[in-house]
Amino acid sequence: MKIIAAKKLLKANDKYARENRERFTASGTYTINVVGSPGCGKTTLLEALMENLGGRASPAVIEGDLASTIDAQRIESRGIPVVQINTEGACHLDATMVAAAADGLDLDGIDLLWIENVGNLVCTAGFDLGEQLRLVILSISEGDDKIVKYPTIFQKADVLVITKVDLLPQSDFNLQRAESDMKHLAPKAKIFQVSARQGQGIDELADWLLRTSHGE
Ligand code: MG
Ligand code: ZN
Repeated sequence: MKIIAAKKLLKANDKYARENRERFTASGTYTINVVGSPGCGKTTLLEALMENLGGRASPAVIEGDLASTIDAQRIESRGIPVVQINTEGACHLDATMVAAAADGLDLDGIDLLWIENVGNLVCTAGFDLGEQLRLVILSISEGDDKIVKYPTIFQKADVLVITKVDLLPQSDFNLQRAESDMKHLAPKAKIFQVSARQGQGIDELADWLLRTSHGE
C-alpha cells in the first residue's frame, strides 16, 4: 500500500506556487486569486471590475470549474483573454494547474491576471497558486455566520468583498457582525461592500485594486 501524506502534496504545491509567483513578477503580471462559494458572485464581480477598469489595465482570466465553459464564455464575450481549467472533479485549483493555464497566455502583455477558483470555501484555502493577492467573496444570500464557520479561507485572505448588498433589505444578514468577525480573524484585510448588479462600491474596489497592483 502506498500512502501519500497531504502535507507532502502541499509542500510540492508550495514549490510550484513559488515558481508561478516568480514568473508573474518577472512579466509584470499582478495576480489575484478569487475564492468564494458557488453562486457568491465571483464571475459577476469580475465582469463588473473589468468593465470599470476598462482601458486602465490589460486583464486576463483563468477560470476554474469542475466542468463546462460557461464562465469562460462570459469573459471571452468581452474580448478578454481567458483560459478555462476543467478540474474534472477536483474541488480546488492548485499551482500546477495555474502554471499550465499560464502557458496559454501572453503574460508579458497582461498586467492584471484574475484566477477564478472553483466555488468552494474549504480546501481552496490550502493551495497557494502563486498569486499576489487573495480576494475572498461572501454574498449576502450565504448568511453572516460563514466567516466563523469557515475561518481558514477568511483568515488567509487579503481582502473580503461582501457582494449582493442590494439584497440586504430582503435579508437578516448582519453586516456589522460579518465585518467584526473578519476584523477578528484577519485584522489586516481590507473589506468592501458591493453590488455588482447595481454598481454600488465597484468604483472604490476597482480603484483600490489598481493602486494595490501598482504597489501603492
Ligand atoms: Mg463563476
Ligand atoms: Zn479541494
